[in-house]
Parts: sequence; C-alpha cells; structure tokens
Amino acid sequence: MSLGRQTAPSVQMGLGQRSAFRQGGRRGPCVRWEGGPACRPSLGERQVRCSACQAGARLGQACRGRGRRLPPDMLTIKLPQLFDIHQVPRVFREDGIISGYRHPRSSALDCILSSFQMTNETVNIWTHFLPTWYFLWRFTMLCSSLDFLNESYTWPLLVYMVLICLYPFTSSCAHTFSSMSAEARHICYFLDYGALSLYSLGCAITYGAYVMPDCWVNSWLHQNFVPIAVLNTLICTGLSCYSRFPELDFPHWSKVVRTGAFVYPFLFDNIPLFYRLLLCLGDSCSHTEALSSHCHHLLFAFLTCFLFASHLPERLAPGRFDYIGHSHQLFHICAVVGTHFQMEAVLADMSSRRGWLSAHSALPSFPGTVGALGVGILLNLAIIGLFSATLLWAPNGALSPCPPNHVPSPRRLEQKEK
Ligand SMILES: [Zn+2]
Repeated sequence: MSLGRQTAPSVQMGLGQRSAFRQGGRRGPCVRWEGGPACRPSLGERQVRCSACQAGARLGQACRGRGRRLPPDMLTIKLPQLFDIHQVPRVFREDGIISGYRHPRSSALDCILSSFQMTNETVNIWTHFLPTWYFLWRFTMLCSSLDFLNESYTWPLLVYMVLICLYPFTSSCAHTFSSMSAEARHICYFLDYGALSLYSLGCAITYGAYVMPDCWVNSWLHQNFVPIAVLNTLICTGLSCYSRFPELDFPHWSKVVRTGAFVYPFLFDNIPLFYRLLLCLGDSCSHTEALSSHCHHLLFAFLTCFLFASHLPERLAPGRFDYIGHSHQLFHICAVVGTHFQMEAVLADMSSRRGWLSAHSALPSFPGTVGALGVGILLNLAIIGLFSATLLWAPNGALSPCPPNHVPSPRRLEQKEK
C-alpha cells in the first residue's frame, strides 16, 4: 500500500458531483490509497462540503456578473480529510476504532490543527492536556506555600509534582503528533512510555519518603527503595518500547508485555501502601488521614489498567465509540483522576507524618530525590534513543529486540506493505 503524501480533497465540486451527493450518491470526491477502496465522507463532512460549495458557487457567480475572475484557489476551502480504518496503514489502526483517522503523513501544523477538529484522537489529546494545567496550577500553589529550595523534606514532593505535570503533557504531545509518519508514531509513544515510567519512579521516591509504614522505616527495603525503582524504570521503559515491535504480528503478546511493563513498577511502588492497608489497618502505622485518598487512587488505578487491557467498550461495538467514549479516553480520565487522589494522599501523609519521620529517619537527600530523577531521565532518554535509532537506521528486519520468532520490525512491516 502506497503511503505517498496526498493532498486533502478540495471542497470545490462541479454540479455533477454535487448532484451525485444529493441523489443519494454516497461517495464524494475521494482520496484513494493505491489499491485501496474509495473513501466515503461522513455526514457532517458532506454537509460542510456542500455548504462550502454553495457559498463558493454564489461567490463565483457574483464575480462573473461583474466581469471579474477569481483565482481558483480563492474558491477552494481545503478541509483536513479523515479516514476509515481500511484506508490507513496497519500500524495506525486501533482495535474497535473504525473511523476518524488522520492522514498518516500529516505535517506538524496539521497535527496541531487536528486537535481542534473532531478526530478519534482529539479527546485523547485534551484529556491529558487540560489535566497538565491542573497539576501545574497545584504545583504553583505548593511552590508558594512550601520552600522547595531549602527544605529537603519537600524534595520528594518536588520530584513527584514535576513528573505528574510531565506525563500527561508528554502523552498529549504523543497523541497530537503520532500521525506524522509510522516512525514518528513509534517515537512519540516511546517518549510517552518513558514519561510514564519516570512517573512510576516519582511515585517510588515520594512513597519511600512519606508513605512507608512506621515499622519499615530504616529497613533494607526503605534504604534501597529508590535504587530499585531506578532499575524498575529501565525495565519498564525497555519492555514497553520493545512491545511496539511485535505489535502487528503478535498483538496479544505485545499487549501482555506492555501491560506487564507498567503493572510491575506500580505493584513495587505500592508495596508500602498495600502493607499499610492490608496488614496494619487500625494500628498506629496505618495513618488513617490519608487512607481514603489512597484507596480512591488504587480504585482508579485498577480501572485504568482494566480499560487499557480490555479495550472496552469499543470492542463490544466497533465504530460506536470512535470519537467519544472509547477505552483510551476513559483510560486517560481514570489515570488523571487516580493521580489527583494519589497527590492528595501524598500531601496528607507528608504533612501528618512530618514530625515523626523527621525524628525517626534521615531527611531525604539530594541524590535520593532530584539526583535519582536526573539519572532516571538520562537512562530513559538513552533507552528511547536506542530504540529510535534501531527503528530508523537498522538494516531491513535486523532489529535486535525480536529474535525468538524473527518478528519483523515495524519498519520492515511498513516496507512489506509498500
Ligand atoms: Zn494515551
């Protein structure tokens, strides 16, 4: 299937074409992938096109009546074309999403503009872009009430707040620019996974500092919680980026690997919380002030994971939830609501346990907080750079991450499709 850049169809139509629409002709002016079927514009698109044509025709008549001729481009309004699932390459297709796909070789400007047009990615973009501003606002409020520069007790929270602003912003950008090319799509989601992985590191840093049960403070796990989390972030980013390679040929395997890549650090980060909730509930170490927020967070985290793995509801009714209500949008919403409750729980633990923690354990150190974040960022960028370089420059099919069954790389699959 050829993927050459094609311009969006013009809405300027001749009388015959317009009457074809009105006489029940279901096919408008078409963009056709080589060898692919003709496109069928949506009802809304047809209405916009027809009114644009009528306006253009009236303008043309008025100008002809005055003996002037307008350049053809002035009578032409170009609208971004959306595509159905069979019109885009396999790598762009989503389970249960039938329509609303953007051009697979959109320009960066088209991608930005598409966030204001209803496509199957629009709600994905906004459900993480708006929460970014909410978390930034909360961060600014905390900056005015806490001394992040001089009080080392607040550094774990500083790292956490930076990362809960970063991950939805990166995700929003990834969804915005993922239709520039197949390679760009993979790299956008590599960065998205990296930001999520760093968020899990931020959770570990902040849980290690504020959420650890009293009886585990200064234990081996407490001392090594952050270094293990740095290692986890490498495993998480590596596995999640790898999971994109076998995605087309082995979608279930890819899904299992990707889900496992994020569930594993989540479970590790929450070990102290699970202990507080399950084994010392009611004792002094449970610190009930924060527990309801922690429970809400866990509930939304479970929902997030379920939606990510299940592809519900669009799996039950393919095409019904293309624009609004599909699982990825719900996944985004549950993730940010869960993060909100997690932030409230961390703030509650941080303030209510400050005296006890300061008296019974060492204050958080710069290397264990900001330093760990810096190391995490560098290592994640290195992994993402490695996967991106493999994707862009490896000889055909010679990608190393898939030796067992000689799984073709995304790049090779793209070439096979051509
Ligand atoms: Zn997403």
